[in-house]
Order: sequence, then structure tokens, then C-alpha cells
Amino acid sequence: MRQNLKNAQRIVIKIGTSSLIYPNGKVNLHAIDQLAFVLSDLKNQGKEIVLVSSGAIGVGMNTLKLDKRPVSIPEQQAVAAIGQLELMNIYTQRFHLYNQTIGQLLLTRDVVEYPKSRTNVKNTLEQLIKMNCIPIVNENDTVAVDELDHQTKFGDNDQLSALVTQLCHADLLIMLSDIDGFYSDNPVKNPQAQLFSEIHEITPASYECSKGTGTKFGTGGMQSKLKAAEKLLANNKQMVLANGNNPLIIFEILSGKAIGTLFVNQAQRL
Ligand code: ADP
Repeated sequence: MRQNLKNAQRIVIKIGTSSLIYPNGKVNLHAIDQLAFVLSDLKNQGKEIVLVSSGAIGVGMNTLKLDKRPVSIPEQQAVAAIGQLELMNIYTQRFHLYNQTIGQLLLTRDVVEYPKSRTNVKNTLEQLIKMNCIPIVNENDTVAVDELDHQTKFGDNDQLSALVTQLCHADLLIMLSDIDGFYSDNPVKNPQAQLFSEIHEITPASYECSKGTGTKFGTGGMQSKLKAAEKLLANNKQMVLANGNNPLIIFEILSGKAIGTLFVNQAQRL
């Protein structure tokens, strides 16, 4: 069944903060190096890649040596402004090692909801891919604040990555998290929890299985990953949720190995 993942041509990869930052708050250079290597090699194989990367606030906290995530919105936005730049600096260096050009897209929800600017975003993504570049997408955390009459936040990068998958008509979303996949219960709290290898639909019972986040950096938790999967299944797209602690896992996923949890609807499965 997983054999069709070998044929995925356009792939969106989402990496969460917990895979980019160590629990002690320092940047996980090993993970970023591996990610740059794998994605550049996939490009050399002829695949088209888009990266959705969290981490701006985490990296900014490290730069500013903050132990706690700031509470006020202006402080969070300032930390994101510093961290986003630093994160892209690290990505630029690592991708250059492999001769791979990257481009940055910072998005807010209102931009992709307004038809004209949505088309512009799609065109930019398309053009970057045509130019052999890897677009790196993140929410524009420095300005995204929800007002009563103006929603600018996506919620989290799980939702953003599902949206990007649809916007660029990708075949597959690979979501890398701090956990091996979707389990029957939160495995951090329940050691008896069983890993699901394949999920064909998201039901209210699925949401019941997924309470709480794992780390101080993780924001969305499993519920938001299920919400993203639900959107993708409704649009006949596939998603694999797997552990991002070693991004070499992406090669194994794309070789068709049963790794993590594959979310695929029955129509796609046939
Ligand atoms: P990331 O930063 O990678 O996006 P999150 O911390 O937001 O990760 O979400 C992953 C966390 O979700 C896991 O570490 C785990 O604690 C929690 N979780 C809750 N329910 C489940 C479940 N059923 N299966 C797997 N993880 C779960």
C-alpha cells in the first residue's frame, strides 16, 4: 500500500519546534543539518519540495537566552522577529552546503483567504519551485494577531502546512513531530498506547485519543495534527506523521516503509 509514496513528486515537509530545538532550549544543529541534506538530495532526485518550518520563537528565545516563552504579544512578536532571521540564517548556511537555494514565505491567514493575494501566494510558490528553489514557509509571527474583526493567525503550523499542501497541489505532506506517529492514547502519559500504522478517517473518537502536548515548545499538540489530516483527507491528499528527531527518516518514508502513521482516505487507497 505504501508503495505509492515512492511516486510522490511534490512533497511538503512540516517540521515542528520540538524537532528543531533541544529540550534545554539550544538549537538542534544535527536535525537541521540532516534536514538540509535530505531535502537537497530529494531535489537532486527530481522531486519538488516545500518546507514549512516552525521555530522562530524557540530560536529567538535561545538567541536572547530566555528560559520562559514571553507572555505578552509584543514580546512574543519581537522574539519571533529575532528568531526567524536567525533560523533562516542557519537554514541558508546548511542548504548552501548542498548547493540548494531557498526562499522565505511568511504568511498570515488573511493573505491566503483574500482571493487575489491567495493567487499571488500560489504563483510565488509555483515560481520558486520552477526556479529549483525550496520555499521555506512560516506564519508571519511578527504581525499575526487575531482581532475580533480580522483573523490573521492560522492557529498553528499544522494547519498552515495542510493549507500549503493544498495551495501548491502537493501529493503528500510529511509532518515531523517529537513522536513516532498517532497512537491510541498520548504515549507520553500512557506506555500501553498503540501506534496506528494507517488511518482512513478522522472521527470524534480520534480526537478523544489525543489530549495534551509533549514539550514546552510544541504548540498545536496531536489535536491540531488530526485537524490538518482531516482537511487533507477531505481533499484526497495523504499525510504521514513521523518522528523528526532524525530527518533521514524521510528517505525511508518515501521508500514505502511502514513508518509513522499514514493518513489516507479509502478513495486514494484504491
Ligand atoms: P510538534 O512541536 O512536533 O508539533 P506537539 O507537541 O505539538 O509537537 O504534538 C505532539 C505531542 O502530542 C506528543 O509529544 C504527545 O505528547 C502529544 N499527544 C497527545 N495525544 C497523542 C496521541 N494519541 N498520539 C501521539 N501523540 C499524542
